[in-house]
Amino acid sequence: MTEPLSFELSRPAVDPPRLPGAEEGGAALGDVLPGELLRSRPPGLPRLSEPELMRHYSRLASLNYSISENFYPLGSCTMKYNPVANEAAAALPGFAGLHPYQDEETVQGALELMWRLEQALCAVVGVDRVTLQPAAGAHGEWTALRMIRAYQHSKGEARTEVLVPDSAHGTNPASAALSGFQVVEVLSGPDGRISLADLESKLSPRTAALMLTNPNTLGLFEREILDIAELVHSTGAMLYYDGANLNAFMGICRPGDMGFDAVHMNLHKTFTTPHGGGGPGAGPVGVKSELVPFLPSPTVERTDGHLTLDHKHPQSIGRVRSFYGNFGMLVRAYTYILAMGGDGLSQASQDAVLSANYLRKLVEGDLEMPHDGPCMHEFVASANHLNHENGVRALDIAKALLDRQFYAPTVYFPLVVPEAIMVEPTETESKATLDSFAHAIKEIVAEARTNPQGLHEEPKNTPVGRLDEVAAARRINAYLQGQSEDPVLRWKSPSETAS
Ligand SMILES: *Cc1c(COP(=O)(O)O)cnc(C)c1O
Repeated sequence: MTEPLSFELSRPAVDPPRLPGAEEGGAALGDVLPGELLRSRPPGLPRLSEPELMRHYSRLASLNYSISENFYPLGSCTMKYNPVANEAAAALPGFAGLHPYQDEETVQGALELMWRLEQALCAVVGVDRVTLQPAAGAHGEWTALRMIRAYQHSKGEARTEVLVPDSAHGTNPASAALSGFQVVEVLSGPDGRISLADLESKLSPRTAALMLTNPNTLGLFEREILDIAELVHSTGAMLYYDGANLNAFMGICRPGDMGFDAVHMNLHKTFTTPHGGGGPGAGPVGVKSELVPFLPSPTVERTDGHLTLDHKHPQSIGRVRSFYGNFGMLVRAYTYILAMGGDGLSQASQDAVLSANYLRKLVEGDLEMPHDGPCMHEFVASANHLNHENGVRALDIAKALLDRQFYAPTVYFPLVVPEAIMVEPTETESKATLDSFAHAIKEIVAEARTNPQGLHEEPKNTPVGRLDEVAAARRINAYLQGQSEDPVLRWKSPSETAS
């Protein structure tokens, strides 16, 4: 690291932080709390002046890589530019200063925004209603599966299995398992799309749903989606749409029209709300009419221009998130949709698909392309040939890109492609950026052929170099078997280390 911890920067000469009222004025703490709960010594907080602390955090922030600095081709994550207008709207005092316990009558504007966002999302994906509560895509999957289960129970059915293709994102089987379903894998065919024959063999009266991503995680459109929907529905099961790849066809076609019964959207992917870093996300779920009675409550209803929160849904699966979801994200997404308009959204998708195909063409001579193009908004290449010939893996290419000021693409996902490198350029990158990325790939692949050892040592220009993943795995294993001290996960003061 190039920046020490605040504890290491701490200087004894600086006065410790002091809270007013602890000693002077007010009640002494000893009058309020039992003596045995009081500290005998002050806490070991770092001693730094305000400017020192500010500089420490500013230096740390400068070690981050972000979309506001450079290209971020992380496949499946849709790392596109988040317009500043979204931030300005979310910061408006009328939105930012709201309290979730405020009376409905005083938050009519916020409710109207939620209602309008719901209408807009219904129109984009072709469903009857949308819940804005889920906090992420994975949470949306889980919410939808609970609605599907409640619906099937209401018809006296207890279906126990959820089908998930082998190319699916890991959250799909995880959500199904967490909802108490057995996960049944459906195989892909040689063209990278779901095998209808395999699907047919796995569908049964036990099937509750098929979870499908379209375009799938290989960036390929499931052309037989109408047949798939018919097959699934003919067994009484439901079709769930993992909407992480919605950026491929907004305003062009709609999952609801393809036969999907429930759909999640990742506002932090497709609708430009901030993404990653552990911050809040939003994963609204849209459903067709049969599932509407089971939506989380409350719903936002509008009658004669008056907005209310409706809690009267006897068949609802209940709340899935405190209050009304991550409201600030809803404001950002609604701002984006208004700024783009319907035509703007479909243009964004067309540009995203064009960017991906352009980049795919540029690098197809350097990386292996396991499936035929054209692709949708992302493509999956492979470093399998380099691994066989030169011992250079997808991981080496990802690390080498970091040294060339690019974020690494997604690697080793989807699992069906060995040494996978998944690239999603998005519509917000210029041709010049795509060209320079392709140039970097070309350089790295040339280096793989002439100096593979050099590549294993990259990155060299980042704050942290190549991590020793083998040593880390060994150490954790030894710890789990009780043969070593715990892995070092946090800083310990000299006095702690001594004891
Ligand atoms: C990102 C993603 C998810 C999960 O969404 P989160 O918002 O990260 O929980 C699910 N499926 C696919 C294909 C994804 O890319």
